[in-house]
Amino acid sequence: MENIIRIAVQKSGRLSEESLKLIKECGIKFYNGTGKLKSSSTNFPIEFLFLRDDDIPGYVADGVADLGIVGENEVAEKNKSIDVLKKLGFSKCRLSLAIPKGESYSGIGYFEGKSIATSYPNILSDYLKSKQVQAEIHEISGSVEIAPSIGLAEGICDIVSSGSTLMMNGLKEVEEIFQSEAVLICHKDISGDKQQTVEKLLFRMDAVQKGKKNKYVLLNAPNEALDRIISLIPGMRSPTILPLAEKGWSSVHSVISEDQFWENIEELRAAGAQGILVVPIEKMVL
Ligand code: ATP
Ligand code: MG
Repeated sequence: MENIIRIAVQKSGRLSEESLKLIKECGIKFYNGTGKLKSSSTNFPIEFLFLRDDDIPGYVADGVADLGIVGENEVAEKNKSIDVLKKLGFSKCRLSLAIPKGESYSGIGYFEGKSIATSYPNILSDYLKSKQVQAEIHEISGSVEIAPSIGLAEGICDIVSSGSTLMMNGLKEVEEIFQSEAVLICHKDISGDKQQTVEKLLFRMDAVQKGKKNKYVLLNAPNEALDRIISLIPGMRSPTILPLAEKGWSSVHSVISEDQFWENIEELRAAGAQGILVVPIEKMVL
């Protein structure tokens, strides 16, 4: 038996699909039938626990799971003793304070002596303390947006992505207090044997992430423009140059970050590049 690690992922919700997609992109095969709470992989020493996201930091802190994929908001709220190994770049959202649309807002002092409904009492109370504002926090576990309209609280602190849920409930966002994305978390004292499996998984995740950030670029250029073009798209070691059938022309192949591509596109064209193709990269190992 290899050193099997256990990873906790959200059973269903805004984290689950991307979490499982990332694991699949790492070449790890598994079966997750609906309603299954546990599963294992057929080609990597890993077991899956499918849980509510609120429970993931606790399970990882206790060592029931070695790893977990969860939002930074839950990590901060639960404040358990765990290590954050990696930001994963999905499920990006923010925690914000919101108040009824018609209210005028002049600053955080607005909340002094008021009541705020939230599912994130710890993050909110830390924030209010840092601003020296005293407010009453009502902890509720869901449907926070309706609290003001039913008279439960005067404001709310909740997750916002587009702001449309707030708008539908007659609320406006007034302060952003926390930014979050999905992270890979790890138990603090993982055994040396399991550590090796964790390293293997991290290596694969890095390759997938690097692949996503970079593009493979192919273009044609007159030979006299090659020096200039190579300086614009230097690639991993250096670009590949292949002669075209037409004399005096070459094909240049290189890898660059997508941002860098957009920054350099005008200069590439000005230097004489033509027929530019940009192709996604699945995995990248430097
Ligand atoms: P569970 O049943 O597992 O407790 P939940 O209802 O608490 O699920 P979800 O709504 O599925 O949670 O959100 C899970 C996580 O996804 C949140 O904790 C947050 O990190 C992130 N998230 C929440 N809303 C959004 C959003 N609109 N866009 C992107 N990410 C979000
Ligand atoms: Mg939850």
